Amino acid sequence: MSVPVRQMWTIASYVLKQRILGNKRYPLVLMLEPLFRCNLACAGCGKIQHPVEILRKHLSPEECFAAADECGAPVISIPGGEPLLHPQIGEIVAGLVARKKFVYLCTNAILLEKHLPKFKPSPYLTFSIHLDGPQEEHDFAVCREGVYDVAISAIKTAIAQGYRVTTNTTVYNNAQPEALREMFDTLADLGVEGMMLSPGYQYEKAPIQTLFLQRQQTVSLFRKLFSNAKKRWKFNLSPLFIEFLQGAWNLECTPWGSPTYNLFGWQKPCYLMNEGYTKTFKELMETTHWPDYGRASGNPKCANCMVHCGYEPTAVAQTFGSWNGLYHTAIRTFFGPRQKNLPPLDEPPSSADSGTGTRHPLGEFVALSPLGNSSSSGSSSRSSELAGVASRQLNGSPAAAS
Ligand code: SF4
Ligand code: SF4
Repeated sequence: MSVPVRQMWTIASYVLKQRILGNKRYPLVLMLEPLFRCNLACAGCGKIQHPVEILRKHLSPEECFAAADECGAPVISIPGGEPLLHPQIGEIVAGLVARKKFVYLCTNAILLEKHLPKFKPSPYLTFSIHLDGPQEEHDFAVCREGVYDVAISAIKTAIAQGYRVTTNTTVYNNAQPEALREMFDTLADLGVEGMMLSPGYQYEKAPIQTLFLQRQQTVSLFRKLFSNAKKRWKFNLSPLFIEFLQGAWNLECTPWGSPTYNLFGWQKPCYLMNEGYTKTFKELMETTHWPDYGRASGNPKCANCMVHCGYEPTAVAQTFGSWNGLYHTAIRTFFGPRQKNLPPLDEPPSSADSGTGTRHPLGEFVALSPLGNSSSSGSSSRSSELAGVASRQLNGSPAAAS
């Protein structure tokens, strides 16, 4: 199992509590962006294109704590920018850990070894290292030579010092499946706790717009990545999300599952898109017109999105929705990603693919109500399997960001 039982239990309890309280929309992972400044300028990044006066600013520790308290999510991901450039990052992490939040600090690792003394190993703290492939591929993706070697060295040091270490990988349309599988072997050898993978989101501000995968390309690539997956590869992805990336399920996005707080306030509607801000989390939840988002909405900005921060909360909510779900968690945890019975890739797109419970060209459509109840227009056995597929891990760190 690639995630500690304590974390699994906390998340499961949280989800069950929300269900008992009848909350239809609730956060699972707070995406806390304390600054936008970075020491890299990756080709696919959509976070660092702000005026200099904004890039110089950062949230105070008090603002970070207030956001965490207001939101209440059990997991906090700290992307950026590069969080290690924040002068008070040690204080911020310590304050969140003291609140018993599971913190994923996303970093490109350039400064990690230097800044490790600012932190203390804890079951609540994980460094999530940005790694987009083996040496050549990673250095190309981050547009600087030598970064891969620095990241690998930092991973070794952090693990040796007793920290939890995961990786986050964004894949683009130039991804080489064999190269990525080679990276999975390397990371398994290093002993990372888990690997998080996600297709990149087509940020309007990303400097190179031709890098991004269309939905069918994403499915095709992830089938190759997970084909004959080795048992020793540990993924920070729920089994349901893995199957979603392989085109087995048409999940609907739950953008409120990973709310984003940054210098401007609470970002509407999600981590990837920016359609305004609210001052409070309550206002975000109450004033965002959620039906305008997600693939079923027809919003073109969501059409090709299969990103972790939008769909993993859906998967996790389904995971902990039933005892059957826990049973299937165990099955997927012990036997790994599903290899068989994936729907054919070459079925033509269908106008029925509207998110209303009809058959999806990539598989059976499962209509998911907000973070909870599922209903399927497909076979009931597949539906109950989906409702029950359980999580190997919840990791809030978005590969798409850092
Ligand atoms: S589908 Fe993607 S871009 Fe659209 S709301 Fe969900 S996470 Fe955001
Ligand atoms: S993707 Fe991450 S590491 Fe790269 S420029 Fe953006 S914030 Fe920095």
